Amino acid sequence: METKKELSREPSQITSRLQKWYNAHKRELPWRETNDPYRIWISEVILQQTRIAQGIGFYHRFMQRFPDVRTLAAAREEEVLKLWQGLGYYSRARNLHQAAVQIVNHHNGIFPSSYPDILSLKGVGQYTAAAVSSIAFHQPHAVVDGNVYRVLTRLFAIATAIDTPEGKKMIGRIAQSLLPEEDPGSYNQAIMDFGALVCTPSQPKCEECVLQEICLAYAERRVTAFPVKERKIKISNRYFHYFHIVHGNRTYLHKRDQSDIWQNLYEFPLIETDHPADLLILQQTAAFRELFSGLPELLIDPLLTVRHQLTHQLIHTRFYRVIIPESCTFTPPQGLLITDIGELHHYPVSRLIHKYLETI
Ligand code: SF4
Repeated sequence: METKKELSREPSQITSRLQKWYNAHKRELPWRETNDPYRIWISEVILQQTRIAQGIGFYHRFMQRFPDVRTLAAAREEEVLKLWQGLGYYSRARNLHQAAVQIVNHHNGIFPSSYPDILSLKGVGQYTAAAVSSIAFHQPHAVVDGNVYRVLTRLFAIATAIDTPEGKKMIGRIAQSLLPEEDPGSYNQAIMDFGALVCTPSQPKCEECVLQEICLAYAERRVTAFPVKERKIKISNRYFHYFHIVHGNRTYLHKRDQSDIWQNLYEFPLIETDHPADLLILQQTAAFRELFSGLPELLIDPLLTVRHQLTHQLIHTRFYRVIIPESCTFTPPQGLLITDIGELHHYPVSRLIHKYLETI
């Protein structure tokens, strides 16, 4: 109830202060110079899990290669994945490509302007649909991302956890009630920029904040207590052992399938174990014997150990280089692809494999 009372008193003040702050402090970004929904969509997807500094260069490269929705739709998925390399969260690239095909097939190649149509595109959730429809088409849909959750829960000292349906609904309602009729797109960008630059996760700049005098968390000296979350992310450990086989000028790759992380990306032959395992243990496994069956003594170098963090997984990885003398006949197990070592960089690979390739 406290929230409603404060809200009814303050919405226009909050909105106008944020707009004023934005006009003075907004970041000059390439996708802010356009109303093209395609460009705005691409930038929103890039920025979902990528820092702005890295995102800008990538956005330019993407636009150069895929300047419009038809070019993106006509590309091979593998090329889109390759261009996406280094950004991680590859499902974003796959979804962008599939949504572009959807736009060409069902909307005659013209980016849809209605919120439900935008929301129906592959990979587009409420956040992206609200961002594109408000920024490109000036429609009244409030964005709610991590920045907005933080700013609003602090302003109104909301103790309801934001990872519960109740918390999400509450913040969604408040965000919508603050949205101005005029230029909702700029306001949406204002509150997100404000969260990224002023009301930051740690050490928010409360002393110079234009909302300080109406911020309940600040008044209660409990700024860092918000937002409240109920669940901690559960991280599972996985143990990957990659074998970079060198056989003359050839090496071997495997294309990942649909049932796990990094779908359709390429990698070296992999043995995954449930627990940490050294080379001696690996050599006892059926997977190792199958991979190197029929070969005499192998020369195996452990080259690199990496801990690779994903949102829900920590991947403990060891890379081995295996030299097979050219004179030996090696028949790789089914599913492995033979490639020239010089061609390796043409394949789309995960950030983890990319890290390894940079070291050799
Ligand atoms: S006073 Fe501090 S916590 Fe409150 S909105 Fe401003 S920056 Fe965020």
